[in-house]
Amino acid sequence: MPEPKKSLRQNYIAQSGMNTRSVHAGHDNTNDVHRSLITPIYQTASYEFEKVSDLWDFYEKRSTRLAEYARYGTPTQRALELALASLDNAEDAVVTSSGMNAIATTLMGLMDAGDHFISLNEGYRGTFKLFDNHLVRFGYRVTYADLSLDAVKQATNEKTKVIFLELPTNPYLKLVDLEAIVQYARSKNLTTVVDATFASPFNLKPLDHGVDLVVHSLTKYINGHNDAIAGAILGSKELIEKVKPVRNLLGSNPDAHLCYLISRSIKTFALRMEAHNRSSLLLAEHLEKHPLIERVWYPMLASHPHHALAKTYLKGGGGIVTFQVKAKDASQDERLKAATAFVEALQLPTHAASLGGVESLVHIPTVMNYYDLTPEARLAVGIPDNLVRLSVGLEDTDDLIRDIDQALRASNL
Ligand code: PLP
Repeated sequence: MPEPKKSLRQNYIAQSGMNTRSVHAGHDNTNDVHRSLITPIYQTASYEFEKVSDLWDFYEKRSTRLAEYARYGTPTQRALELALASLDNAEDAVVTSSGMNAIATTLMGLMDAGDHFISLNEGYRGTFKLFDNHLVRFGYRVTYADLSLDAVKQATNEKTKVIFLELPTNPYLKLVDLEAIVQYARSKNLTTVVDATFASPFNLKPLDHGVDLVVHSLTKYINGHNDAIAGAILGSKELIEKVKPVRNLLGSNPDAHLCYLISRSIKTFALRMEAHNRSSLLLAEHLEKHPLIERVWYPMLASHPHHALAKTYLKGGGGIVTFQVKAKDASQDERLKAATAFVEALQLPTHAASLGGVESLVHIPTVMNYYDLTPEARLAVGIPDNLVRLSVGLEDTDDLIRDIDQALRASNL
């Protein structure tokens, strides 16, 4: 389907900053007789083709009509996709029903049974469960590599098609030398995919560094209000054309209401990200000096193992601060007691899964993601039981600091 020609205004927006793009990108009312300021919610399952020839025109790409059936898209959904493409400097985008669906759809679009892909060994556990428990059943093979180019090279074999990276990683916010990996991938004809959910397009635009496809959980910073689940895949038109049919035929596109909600949230995306970055850095600096904190991970702290990479690749450190609270001793038992007491004493951050919203959320990775492993197995995968992951929301930073201080004191009595 040919896209309608871009108006002068849209070209202007495409060259503008992140706040301007957040407010304006995606919306195009030039074909709307009512010229509505906001893209309407097109609540329809199907579309009328008055003449049979209109449908032929549509199939043979002689019309600018979007779809013949809403599983293939709605104008509300397309507006969201175009806004997302603008934020990530992508040629095209496709939205999906969740971040997990974006990852699965991407890999299903790029690989055949018997193909192999490489994934970093640190990241969201749900992603690894998808790889290990499900994608392998359909004939895909995965090798986990640590965060070095050498490990990625070693993991490559003649069946490798894709390198999948989550950046920054969950929960330690680690990075890789992205451009070095892209250069290697190109030399081997491998497609690079980056899950940039933790960075969001405000802090990292992987396509600008030569990455082929980006996936996001829109559930996090992009929607940002802890009230929607959705995902997106972004990249060249050619690659999006490979993954879009998978989404269309699995039927995993978000409905018009949800797309409207996310488009509405995007209007404040850049503003929110600036606030997440600012507040989290202040909080991370405060925690690092706190006597009841053992260790802090935040990419914009000089103490972070990948601080230099963060300075190269990230505009800001994002809204996640990961830290270990001090326990009475180093046993996993005492560690879990300390983390539990701290989280339960907090008044503002809510104990809940997810991240990237206006409300601060906190959890203990041991309990939220790794409860099925033994304490020793958790340590072996790098999860001490006193680890806490805080998603810093948009409350006043002073209030969050005051709350954290009182919770640390109360939990250490
Ligand atoms: N990628 C990362 C880095 C995540 O943290 C998550 C969820 O927490 C996902 C993907 C999955 O996103 P969703 O919950 O929207 O499916």
